[in-house]
Amino acid sequence: MSKAIKERMTAQKSFIFGYLKSVKTHPSAETVYNEVKKRLPNISQGTVYRVLNNFKEKGSIQAIDTKDTVHFDADISDHAHFICETCGSVFDVIEECSKCGVLKNKKTKVGSINKYQIKFYGICKKCRKQVCSH
Ligand SMILES: [Zn+2]
Ligand SMILES: [Zn+2]
Repeated sequence: MSKAIKERMTAQKSFIFGYLKSVKTHPSAETVYNEVKKRLPNISQGTVYRVLNNFKEKGSIQAIDTKDTVHFDADISDHAHFICETCGSVFDVIEECSKCGVLKNKKTKVGSINKYQIKFYGICKKCRKQVCSH
């Protein structure tokens, strides 16, 4: 691989990471691609997907699976997620989960816990409002 290609890839990678860090919306790979493309018009969808997977495997970002798609979050601190079953939005749940870390390093019968994900399912405020107004 030539140096120029390598440098371009590094720049793309850090741009994608920077974008993810800047949002709290837990975008899907498709949204990340659409947003990043606005600034880097030559980037391919494949590159974006590959970079996201790479970050995920390295643990620099986390992936939140919902039934429709996979959402990405550059915030890897202990926090839970609320998934709206109506619109599919993913929200951070921090206050209610201040003790989220208590299970960390806990030993169970089958082994010790390094990390875990908590997902709450419900209807977000915005969707609830729409239901009520009818
Ligand atoms: Zn919703
Ligand atoms: Zn999050």
